[in-house]
Parts: sequence; C-alpha cells; structure tokens
Amino acid sequence: PFSKLSNVGTTIFSQMTQLANENEAINLSQGFPDFMPDSELLDLVNQFIQKGFNQYAPMGGMIGLKEEIARKIENSHHALYHPDSEITITAGGTQAIFTTIATFIKKDDEVIIFEPAYDCYEPTVELFGGIVKRFEMKAPDYEIDWNAVKNLVSEKTKMIILNNPNNPSGKILKEEDIQELIKIVKDTPILVLSDEVYENIVYDGKKHLSICKYPELKERSLLVASFGKLFHVTGWKIGYCAAPKVLTDEFRKIHQFNVFSVNTPIQMALAEYMKNEEYYLGLNQFFQEKRDFLRQGLAQTSFELLDCEGTYFQALKYDKISDKTDFDFATELTVTHKVASVPFSSFYKNKLNENVIRLCFAKKQETLERAIENLAKL
Ligand code: GLN
Repeated sequence: PFSKLSNVGTTIFSQMTQLANENEAINLSQGFPDFMPDSELLDLVNQFIQKGFNQYAPMGGMIGLKEEIARKIENSHHALYHPDSEITITAGGTQAIFTTIATFIKKDDEVIIFEPAYDCYEPTVELFGGIVKRFEMKAPDYEIDWNAVKNLVSEKTKMIILNNPNNPSGKILKEEDIQELIKIVKDTPILVLSDEVYENIVYDGKKHLSICKYPELKERSLLVASFGKLFHVTGWKIGYCAAPKVLTDEFRKIHQFNVFSVNTPIQMALAEYMKNEEYYLGLNQFFQEKRDFLRQGLAQTSFELLDCEGTYFQALKYDKISDKTDFDFATELTVTHKVASVPFSSFYKNKLNENVIRLCFAKKQETLERAIENLAKL
C-alpha cells in the first residue's frame, strides 16, 4: 500500500553485476570501465583536497568547471550556453534526468520515450504522475518511424526523451531523424530531455548530432552529459545539465533541495583537466579499438553482431545459439560460461524479446580476450 512504484524491482544493472560476482563471471553487464582513469586527473583531485577545496560548492556548480563545459559545447557544436545561468553540475547523468523530470512533469502529462530505453526514464515519469508513450525501435536496425512517433503526440505531450547515442542499441540519430523531430515539436510547447552521456563515443568517423546544434531544439531542451563516461570515472557520479535560463531556473529550484551541490574538489579537478581537449577528443579512437577487437573476436562465432555506431555497448543476437528468452540466456551465459551481459528485454516495458543481449566493452584488453575465449565456445 505504501509503494509508489509497485511494479519496479532492483535495476537490471545491479542484478546482473550481483549475478556476475556470485558466479565469478567476467562482468560485461553494467557499463563501467575496469581500468584506471588517467593518473593526472587523480593527482588533481588530491591536490585540490590538500589545497582546501573541501566545503560546499555553489548550488549550480563551480564557475571554472561550468566555463570549461560551455567552451567544450561551443567547440564541439557551435552552441552557446551561459556558464553561470545555463549550466548546472549534477551528481551524475541519472540525477540530471531525475531532476529534469521532477521539475517539469505533472500528473497526466504525457512523455514520449524510445525503446530500448535506459531504465530510469519510465519509473521517474510515473513517480510524478506522468504517462509514458513509447515507440519501440526494433532489431536489427533500431530505426525510428517518425510517423508513428507523430501519432503519439497529443495536446498532453509535455516532453520527449531522447538518448543519443542510444544505450543499449549503440544507434545514433541521423540528420533526417533530427529534422523529423524538429517538425514534430516546432510550434508546440513540448520540451526535449536529451540524454547525450555517450556523446564523445561515436565511431567510424560519424558525427554526434547534439540537440544544441539546432536552435529550434536548443531553446526547448535540457541537455544531459556525464563525466563518468568522458573520463572513465563512473563512480564519481558527476555530470551536468545545460539548458536555456528559463528552464535552468526551474531545474535549480528542484536541484537545490535534492542534492544542493556536488563534490567540490572533483569539480575543481575536472575544470583543470578539461582544459586539454585531447583527453576527450581521443575517446572515439580509444573505444573504437576496443569495439573492433571485440567484434573481430566474435566474428567467427554464431553470435550475430548488430551495428554499433556509438556508446561502449555491443548488441549481440544469439538466435542461432539458443531459443531461450534473453533473460534466461543471459543468466545461463553468466552461470555456465562466466560472461555477464544485459538482456535487451529489460529495456522494453513490454519485455520485448528479440534474442539480443548487450555487452560492455569498456574493458582492459585481457578482460575482452577472456570474454571472447568463453563466448567462442558457444
Ligand atoms: N549506465 C550504466 C549502464 O547502462 C549503468 C548505470 C547504473 O548501473 N545505474 O550499464
């Protein structure tokens, strides 16, 4: 009777990581690097702690870090955000997403999401009384039928949530997709929450198209990004939300009573470290080598490798190997073959099973080698 989310259990990431640990399996389920971040960044954190940056940061974040973020966005997308009034430092991407939804979604507001969807969107919308309308993108291409999306729009549509590049499918939005989206939202009050935490992990020379490049979208969008993905520090739980001042003002009303402010010495360290853009501009190449190594290693197996245009996740179709549901197959893979993955059905409300699992390749070479060796036996 007291549960506000009676249909929600523990997230699939925690579940699969626990199963991996219990079975001493190689954990390619939850998305996090198993290697050390740059020691220069670690030294900077230490230095700022020693220098005395150990008290509350300003509510919206340290100005130095917000300035570096504004510079990064301008250099990458030619879009301007005012550092002080339009960028807010958050305790990770998930908190920025939660706060955005909490800020704008009221009872009976409709929110459009694209599945497979990162698992926090839907429960958070429901928590605030919103109603989720979904478009299911399907294997193997995960294309969006924008006519079908248009049919989901109503007078009550308050927000569209995008995740580009998409976790778990690795799909990125094309120029045509963005143009279709613009047609749908223009002349409406619809807001866009754009989760772009994998923005710097895009492959084969393709370009990440951020919503902030498009004035018609930027003016109505909350752009969410994450330092965990950018600098291999998912455990630091730090990210940000960039949005026009009118939206940021509302966002901060909630933010101030949720976390108030975020870890001061880490903000100082990130601001200093970000000055050298090589650190993040090299990320595409860094992860592309890992992606290609995993794909080559699995090319001769009976797994079908779906496209991976971005993110550090590889989707595998296994229907030539087993007819089990993806959840049962992922469990068996962990228990028997010692490789943990995430079943794709967990990213669909209706548990759509297309016999696809997700592997995280943000791992050391030796971890990937061991996983490939185990998977090649299937
Ligand atoms: N973003 C990570 C993933 O997709 C997980 C984050 C989490 O565990 N909450 O695996």
